[in-house]
Amino acid sequence: MSQTIAKPIPVPDEITAPFFDGARASKLMLQHCAACDSWSFPVRERCPHCFSGTLQWRQASGRGTLYTFAIMHQVMNPGFASSVPYNVSQIDLEEGVRMVANVVGVANDALRIGMKLEAIFEDVGETVRIPKFRPAVG
Ligand SMILES: [Zn+2]
Repeated sequence: MSQTIAKPIPVPDEITAPFFDGARASKLMLQHCAACDSWSFPVRERCPHCFSGTLQWRQASGRGTLYTFAIMHQVMNPGFASSVPYNVSQIDLEEGVRMVANVVGVANDALRIGMKLEAIFEDVGETVRIPKFRPAVG
């Protein structure tokens, strides 16, 4: 008898809720600092560039390029047993921040550094969606 073990699901908190609210609406939301006009990620309470507390949520383009990736063959968490091998990728977004996500819609051996990507959103729970990336169309 086999038992399917679910992948861990992110739990939004007070600080990250706007990111996950955006994802539910298929919008990639990032924090932007009004004081120094810069974007930041991961989610923070203060700007990592100028330490201002005036971070505002804005919708990002969702476009980026593949900076690097690793292919996971080992099952580090039993929830991912049916997913190996899968990629864990770093994507440089047009806004100038780097995000870790899976690239989907392309075989792992077809991943290429610098390829153009766009965000898509995948349900990972009843109320949680997370961004993933696929090769950009057009
Ligand atoms: Zn700033």
